Amino acid sequence: MDKTKELQEIATRIKNCQLCPLYQQATNFVAGQGNSSAQIVFVGEAPGYWEDQKGVPFCGASGNLLDKLLKEINLERNQVFITNILKHRPPNNRDPQPPEIKACTPYLKEQLLIIEPKIIITLGRFAMNYFIPNVYISKTHGQLKRISWQNLKLSLYPLYHPAAAFRRGEVMSQLRGDFLKIPQIIKDSEAQEKEEENKPPEVKTTQESLF
Ligand code: URA
Repeated sequence: MDKTKELQEIATRIKNCQLCPLYQQATNFVAGQGNSSAQIVFVGEAPGYWEDQKGVPFCGASGNLLDKLLKEINLERNQVFITNILKHRPPNNRDPQPPEIKACTPYLKEQLLIIEPKIIITLGRFAMNYFIPNVYISKTHGQLKRISWQNLKLSLYPLYHPAAAFRRGEVMSQLRGDFLKIPQIIKDSEAQEKEEENKPPEVKTTQESLF
């Protein structure tokens, strides 16, 4: 099966998903959108009002900002893949709850295994903390991380959520600054990956084998 078909198959399962109660109040499911072989996958928090209305990720005010920032680095939406931690809207845009995250994120894992992106760019603390718990976005944004996640080696680049940028002017300039670094960050992550590949395997020595 090709990657697009595989992603469609996941979307069908998300459409019919009843693993948490969020489907009950949702107008639409929001599986994700974009290129099934994208180098970059953006992971946001959860659909908001407009995303729920249209079934498309980041299609409201935050999405307009995301599109504008993508344009600044010469990228179009159809060159990347955009998805969220949760695939149905939480009522009144409340924070995702741990059982919802637990129920929904196996879909995200499947999407990532199919797309095999070079880099995952998280938008906001919920998406970041899903991959790297116990860190603060104010300290970690704009730093490339190589992480081990569920037996996968991933490059992660955490950014502020666009909605946070609307609330505070200084966050807007940090988000924009971090965004403009993306082309270089992709090169850096490729270099890190190559370095790991070329590293000789670790030889485990015990005390006895030294004598
Ligand atoms: N905010 C998100 O985190 N995701 C969306 O899809 C829209 C707004």
